[in-house]
Amino acid sequence: MKIYNTLTGVKEDFVPMEAGKVKMYVCGPTVYDYIHIGNARPYVIFDTVRRYMEYRGLEVNYVQNFTDVDDKIINKAIKEGVDSSVISERYIAEALKDAEGLNVEPATVNPKVTEEMPEIIEMIQTLIDKGYAYEVDGSVFYDTKAFDGYGKLSGKNIDELEAGARIEVDTSKRSPMDFVLWKPKKPGEPAWSSPWGEGRPGWHIECSVMAKKYLGNTIDIHAGGEDLIFPHHENEIAQSEAANGVQFARYWMHNGFINVNNEKMSKSKGNFFTLRDIVAEVPYDVVRFFILSGHYRSPINFSRELMQAAGNGLDRIKSCAKRLDFLLENSDGALTEQESVTADESKKFRQRFEAAMDDDFNTANAVTAIFDLVKFANSKVDEGSSRGLVSTVKDELESLCGILGIRLDKKKADIDVEKIESLIEERTAAKKNKDYARADEIRQQLSDMGILIEDTRAGVRWSVM
Ligand code: AMP
Ligand code: ZN
Repeated sequence: MKIYNTLTGVKEDFVPMEAGKVKMYVCGPTVYDYIHIGNARPYVIFDTVRRYMEYRGLEVNYVQNFTDVDDKIINKAIKEGVDSSVISERYIAEALKDAEGLNVEPATVNPKVTEEMPEIIEMIQTLIDKGYAYEVDGSVFYDTKAFDGYGKLSGKNIDELEAGARIEVDTSKRSPMDFVLWKPKKPGEPAWSSPWGEGRPGWHIECSVMAKKYLGNTIDIHAGGEDLIFPHHENEIAQSEAANGVQFARYWMHNGFINVNNEKMSKSKGNFFTLRDIVAEVPYDVVRFFILSGHYRSPINFSRELMQAAGNGLDRIKSCAKRLDFLLENSDGALTEQESVTADESKKFRQRFEAAMDDDFNTANAVTAIFDLVKFANSKVDEGSSRGLVSTVKDELESLCGILGIRLDKKKADIDVEKIESLIEERTAAKKNKDYARADEIRQQLSDMGILIEDTRAGVRWSVM
């Protein structure tokens, strides 16, 4: 399995520190609103990385934080006249619903800043004690010049950065590149007591602290969107390596951005969509499929047309699965000798799928392998096939889709199977009695329920529209 490592700029073989176990940390959202369509990308991508590693027999300890202390949360709380925890708890609950909708496996742990304060204060103190941070009037800053490796992830040169930096009004920093670890309390803001007075942590320190607490001083994979490479991840490295004295993360993975109609998404441009805006129009599984249809490191463009195309693609896979299900119920017998060749051929798609995923999680090529399996199933499996063949091909399709977190069955709870089947029986009886008006009426009734029926040689087949 190869991973493109942002730290080295090349694809490297992935070898976890401890055989069979992976320590993975993914930067999570700041919870001041519903997550947006861009945030859905790291959710889906890194969940897929995790699922594929699990498929390969690795046990993944997956940590994703919620940033629940932030200016945007505080401003919203002030606007609504509530405590900032009301805002963060509300949007944590909503983000978890979105993650579930996207079929993201629950993280091993979702730490929150507000619940990690003693550890945050402890790491800041360690940085001060070791000479990597300094206090000025209740603020604590990280001294970027004190850390030799500053810039190694983003490839930035600290002197050039400094020369290009804006002159800041805040002159308490020794260098414009220094960043804040602890900020003093302002009126109306949530605050915690610390050796430097009441205040709250800067943004970057939380991830260093949570990764250490839940995974250890050195982790296998650290991931997030590419916007986080600088300064967030660069600063995490500076904090963790200075405090712990060992390498922080061995592989750094970054997803490309989602643009909207070829432009960067921003509230001021009016092209900003929450995931909820989108799923009001298309199901969550189409959004997941759309995200997986591109390579995770490339930028992807979001538009109604592209979403529609993803929906059509997913429908093709689902109808194939439905057809195989139907054939399965109406077939019997083991593989014939002739069929065993076809059965073996159907397993070749898995090799292509694995080769794509082993090559830095090329989900775009993995999805193509699934489409080719669908074509194969549509041409090689039919009413004359044995149950042995149908089930082999169906298992392959279901398994490959499952690795990508694509569910082929609509949630059973949404569908009243008994009612559908009794209506179908009634319709069959009506047709037998030449009561075509009643038969048509029932077809319409099913259609209104979102159920499509097809009369085939082997009987009536139904599917969810
Ligand atoms: P934030 O809430 O902005 O801290 O972002 C949470 C996660 O979503 C981070 O990993 C970001 O890098 C990622 N992210 C934010 N915007 C986008 C976007 N437009 N496309 C892809 N990823 C994004
Ligand atoms: Zn982070």
